[in-house]
Amino acid sequence: MIVAANLKTNLTRKQTNIYIKELEKFLSSENITQDIFVFPATSSLDTFDTQTIVGAQNAYPVQNGAFTGEIGLDHLDEFGIKTILIGHSERRHILGESQEAIAEKFNYFKELGFTIVYCVGEPLEKREAGSNVMMEYINAQYEGIDTKYEKLIIAYEPVWAIGTGLTPTNEDILAIHRELKKKSQAPLLYGGSVKVNNAKEIMALQNVDGVLVGSAALNVEDFCQMAVFAEDLEK
Ligand code: PEP
Repeated sequence: MIVAANLKTNLTRKQTNIYIKELEKFLSSENITQDIFVFPATSSLDTFDTQTIVGAQNAYPVQNGAFTGEIGLDHLDEFGIKTILIGHSERRHILGESQEAIAEKFNYFKELGFTIVYCVGEPLEKREAGSNVMMEYINAQYEGIDTKYEKLIIAYEPVWAIGTGLTPTNEDILAIHRELKKKSQAPLLYGGSVKVNNAKEIMALQNVDGVLVGSAALNVEDFCQMAVFAEDLEK
């Protein structure tokens, strides 16, 4: 199982260091063997010699250069970061990243052998328009993406469920994960308002290989508890 925390624009470098220390202490005391990922804010990246896999929320597909406000490969290499989140809905919808730009980023980091957590998911109006429209929308998010890449992890995150406290029903998650598994055999995470009170039942669903957690992961105890659920489900 994979349990991943997207810390978004939260936790300073100091706070992130404390967070990861607490998490590490817990993982080793509870003998957690699942794959635990944390994606800190860019300025909180550091060299972490940890069981937790620390990844970048974003980087520009370039080694370095004139791309104001972005970081490149040099900045990830400095901290030995080999994992990246690509295609998150906040980057698609708030920062306006196109599928073309996302695919370019994907291919750049794929060539470098990065582990890529690649996010897909539909806004509410696409879901409400019926399953054909919804699947057409999600299918377009696979354009230019190598679904057979061996270091690919996919996260299905319905946009309307992110940070809203709303989640699809378990039946809906089962149905969409079944469809998405036909498109790629890569581990498939569910994300969107995962909390301690629903994480275990979501992770127990067929074709759910873990969770990507935003707001609830900011509480390190809650995130640790989700790691325990994942461990229990693997027993
Ligand atoms: C996310 O942003 O990836 C996410 C899943 O957020 P939240 O858990 O807050 O819905």
